[in-house]
Amino acid sequence: MDADAVVIGAGATGLFTALDLSLRGAKVVVIDRGGILNGTSGRMHGLLHSGARYVTNDQVSAKECISENIILSRIAHHSIFDTGGLFVSLKDDDSFVETFVKGLRDAKIPYSEVDVKRALELEPNLNKEITHSISVPDKVVDPFKLFSGVAYLARQNGVKFLLYDRVIGISGSKVMTEKGDVNAKVVVNAAGPWASKVSAMHSKESEVIEEMSTIGAMLVFDRKLNSMVINRMRPPSDGDIVVPYYERSILGTTAQVVEDPDNVKVEDEDVQYIIEEGSAMLPKLSGLKPTRYYYSVRPLLKGTGARSASRDYRIFDEGDMVTIIGGKLTTSRLMAETVVDKVSEKLGIESKCSTAVMEIPDAISLYSLSNTIGDEIYGPGYSLFRIEEYLQNDTA
Ligand SMILES: Cc1cc2nc3c(=O)[nH]c(=O)nc-3n(C[C@H](O)[C@H](O)[C@H](O)COP(=O)(O)OP(=O)(O)OC[C@H]3O[C@@H](n4cnc5c(N)ncnc54)[C@H](O)[C@@H]3O)c2cc1C
Repeated sequence: MDADAVVIGAGATGLFTALDLSLRGAKVVVIDRGGILNGTSGRMHGLLHSGARYVTNDQVSAKECISENIILSRIAHHSIFDTGGLFVSLKDDDSFVETFVKGLRDAKIPYSEVDVKRALELEPNLNKEITHSISVPDKVVDPFKLFSGVAYLARQNGVKFLLYDRVIGISGSKVMTEKGDVNAKVVVNAAGPWASKVSAMHSKESEVIEEMSTIGAMLVFDRKLNSMVINRMRPPSDGDIVVPYYERSILGTTAQVVEDPDNVKVEDEDVQYIIEEGSAMLPKLSGLKPTRYYYSVRPLLKGTGARSASRDYRIFDEGDMVTIIGGKLTTSRLMAETVVDKVSEKLGIESKCSTAVMEIPDAISLYSLSNTIGDEIYGPGYSLFRIEEYLQNDTA
């Protein structure tokens, strides 16, 4: 098979990259060892960040998040729920409030201070001891709704999908998979936490990509305890976000550095620890048993620690292969735009990015996918295969 560009990875980054490239006129093939959203993107927390979480330690990411939050809400409104977000502080967090507000101002994230009495009216399950509360434009995103639409649009624009096919070698811009070879002019490595493994297949001389994968676990409660996204107002830490996801609440997360993204597990103590931390904000959590948990691995660049590592992204140009790594699902469209600008230079394409103004269709309604998160791949709700059939259909 021949293509202008082959994209390795059908996660958030790879799918937006494939769509963007195809809209600029390139012939594109996407390869994934699983189905779409097989990696971290199908097992994230469901938060469309306003950027508020990063204002004190990562202003660049915070600014990217707020601008992408606005763009995605416009182009993919069917997959985003404007719940709003509330940052709440407890007595121990009081010294952080001023720094947090300054960070919000610097990143130009709209916010308003909400009187504690009003916050408790809005969210009756909050700890009555909260001392401050600030609302920000955090939202909830259904990644399956969003990215089945992105993949569908990419397929309509001629992108070919080779799913359930693992990349096993790369020679120049020729990609070898378990089922065959793809000859391209440029390879885009969008393999998320596996990007350094994929890069290592490319060339021994290539720049070593120092990835620092961190595992995060999320607990699902079969009750909706909050209607807004609740965040603890303190430096990013464990168990400090509760996302209202359809009729459930999802509490997360953790951040522990792992050696191998294919060899991770969550310990019982981690689950207990997350519940303890989360119940400081929503005390009812301590009396509830999560119905399940799921986990995934962050594709971060090496930093000083799991929490302090930047959520910004970086591009590594290795001639006939370009690797994109880092970022958030919230910023995946922007990441794709940046990497596609680079690939376009290599392909001699002059068209500009149009994904910021391109409406993403509600493909999910055509394929009646279920509303769960994290278990689609193995759980009973798994029905993505129907859209994947369409993506892989040569006559589509
Ligand atoms: C616990 C946790 C919670 C998170 N919550 C949020 C959140 O609420 N909001 C937010 O904005 N961000 C969140 N993130 C971050 C976000 O989910 C990730 O940054 C984003 O999903 C990464 O997307 P990606 O496409 O780069 O990687 P992935 O989604 O992991 O995609 C990489 C793909 O590459 C494929 N692949 C790997 N190796 C090969 C190979 N050899 N051959 C073929 N294919 C291969 C994989 O199968 C996978 O599908 C969270 C991350 C974690 C870990």
